[in-house]
Amino acid sequence: MAGRKLGVVRLGRAAGKTKFTVLDEESVNVLLQYVLEPRMIMDRDGNGTRIFAYAYESIEGRRNARKVHEIIWELNHGQLHPGHEIVHRNGITVDNRIENLQLCRTEFEKPREFPSLLPNPNSVYYQVIQRIPEEPVDESFFELNSLPCYRRNEGGGTDYDRNLCFFECHYRPCSNIEKEAREFSVCGHCHQVRYCGPTCQRTDWTVHKKHCRPRKRKRRNRSVSPER
Ligand SMILES: [Zn+2]
Ligand SMILES: [Zn+2]
Repeated sequence: MAGRKLGVVRLGRAAGKTKFTVLDEESVNVLLQYVLEPRMIMDRDGNGTRIFAYAYESIEGRRNARKVHEIIWELNHGQLHPGHEIVHRNGITVDNRIENLQLCRTEFEKPREFPSLLPNPNSVYYQVIQRIPEEPVDESFFELNSLPCYRRNEGGGTDYDRNLCFFECHYRPCSNIEKEAREFSVCGHCHQVRYCGPTCQRTDWTVHKKHCRPRKRKRRNRSVSPER
């Protein structure tokens, strides 16, 4: 592990947050020829939504996008055969360091449960992601990012809901995503960011307070207010 150089690539915004992927330096160089983007994918085993890094060549267009972790696996280990799948050992689906990728030959080999996605200060992912400066919260952010949402229904199929968007905890090293709409609590000052719990909100405040702007009051609220 020692001496392995790492890189971070900005994927763009998904689930109410700017997402980055952590990679080995060799992988960063290979991915320079691609356009990268984050995509929210519903896990078929009921583990909720996950954000993955996708890559496509700009001439071919995003319809031919591939999962970044599969590209990296193939670069290091050769072609991925049908029926094989790559999983992320630590459960963080944007941590695409080669040592975090694991080949599963059958569905049966796949881990049944994801590891905890709460921030782990000892992890490489945490240390890398903590060093990236925070970007201001963009006002138009949510409209741009109202991604379509697919939910499992009782019959085992999937429902599509265009109004639903699940948010990821705003604290950067935390990868928890809502399983139900509006599950996480929103920052009471700006109403723009959401946290999976008070620990993440408290820890993130030192960074978030620099960008947290109280939301302009709407007329509706003013008429309710008793002060004159
Ligand atoms: Zn969190
Ligand atoms: Zn705020």
